Amino acid sequence: MSSARTPHALILPYPAQGHIVPMMELSYRLIERGVRITFINTHFNHNRIFATKASGQATFIGEEIDGINFVAIPDGLEPEDDRHDFGGLTQSLMKVMPTLLEELIRDNGGEFTCFVADINMAWALKIGKNLGLRTAAFWPAAAAAGLLDAIFSIPELIQNGVIDEHGALMKKEVIQLNPGITPLDSANLPWHCFDDAYTKVIIFNYLITNNQATSNAEMMICNSFEELEKPIFSKIPHILPVGPLDSKFESRDLNLCQLWPEDKQCIAWLDKQSTNSVIYVAFGSITIFNNKQFQELALGLELTGRPFLWVVRPDLTNKTVNCTFPLGFEERVANRGRMVGWSPQHKVLKHPAIACFVSHCGWNSTIEGLRNGVPFLCFPYFCDQLFNQKYITDVWRIGLSLTRDENGLISKEEVRSKVEELLKDTNIITKSLSLKQLASSSVMEGGSSLKNLNKFAEFLRENQVKEVQKLV
Ligand code: UDP
Repeated sequence: MSSARTPHALILPYPAQGHIVPMMELSYRLIERGVRITFINTHFNHNRIFATKASGQATFIGEEIDGINFVAIPDGLEPEDDRHDFGGLTQSLMKVMPTLLEELIRDNGGEFTCFVADINMAWALKIGKNLGLRTAAFWPAAAAAGLLDAIFSIPELIQNGVIDEHGALMKKEVIQLNPGITPLDSANLPWHCFDDAYTKVIIFNYLITNNQATSNAEMMICNSFEELEKPIFSKIPHILPVGPLDSKFESRDLNLCQLWPEDKQCIAWLDKQSTNSVIYVAFGSITIFNNKQFQELALGLELTGRPFLWVVRPDLTNKTVNCTFPLGFEERVANRGRMVGWSPQHKVLKHPAIACFVSHCGWNSTIEGLRNGVPFLCFPYFCDQLFNQKYITDVWRIGLSLTRDENGLISKEEVRSKVEELLKDTNIITKSLSLKQLASSSVMEGGSSLKNLNKFAEFLRENQVKEVQKLV
């Protein structure tokens, strides 16, 4: 094996939209730094992204697309299976992927020099390590999202009687995992956001497996920046923040990670709107609505009297609930409201017409919004989104929360009044712009994230790759 060969990274995200996007962004940054990239999707996601058929076992799809080699691996589910069932998806991919991944690395003997896995796929790091690759883990959420903290603190939580050894909640309390870090409600620990007990246990055990497996990573990076989460980075100096990782898709037509077709026309529609006038409403890739809440939101947007761009994903409802617009709604808002199935969100948030972002507070949406100085109205659905909301409203003060009434509903009147309150709040607007400045500085010459990214690329370029084991 030549010691001077080009570094070639194998990139493995968890197969969900919010994981594919930042790891693709990372890939582009690494290409700019002389690293070749092979990106792994599941067949199911690959088919959605390219709308083509990727059949057979783990093989190179062939040509490089936009400088990236794409590889597709089955996730073990049937095409019609529900991939929002994370318990089922996780169990299935753990059954089929390890062998296929090992084959992929072996069959391309010596081609790959390094392996960057999502922390949510950290089990795979051991495979890469055993086959002689340099290894790194990527954390796609807030460093302090309670998740990173909670995941690494599971033994402590068990010891303190907050949860039992299966993750079941024993004490409902606010837990302060580390001084200086935003506290977390024990009921919001990541595995508790799933409805059924079975999924909770699967996810809990999966987190433990992955947590232990991160010890196989030589380096860890995350999509955040030092100035954004100061208290946590001083406690976990081994995790390098390299974000915000969101500037590539803003300026290009090609987006190789969208699981839904983008409605590109909405940018032309935004071009026709006044500066700072449009409410952007989007809830990421997982959020499910019930019809009552969906209609209330629609009526709230109508009540604002302002232009809005609302992403209504085709699967925003579940198998049992079908959301419909209130009677006559589409006609009444036709001249100022636009509903799309999926937006080019990076471009939307950068657009000068956007006034605020009604968001579920997924980490990518959070960092994309703050990177563009857009104030938030928080409408979290589950999991780390509840934590991100606290960051937005209480720590960074760049947004407001939408409050639920006694029936758990965010009413149309609440939507209307909070939009007005937010857009009049000059403190929030000023803070949003100063955070945008901090985010930009971190990825500019001399910035903390840029330095970390260069350091990371340097690590991947180091030619200390061990001989790939030949276990045929
Ligand atoms: N996104 C998009 N168009 C949309 C909605 C979302 O491109 O209409 C992208 C968004 O830019 C982000 C990702 O999908 O990068 C969603 O990730 P996030 O962490 O915000 O939410 P999740 O889907 O994981 O809940």
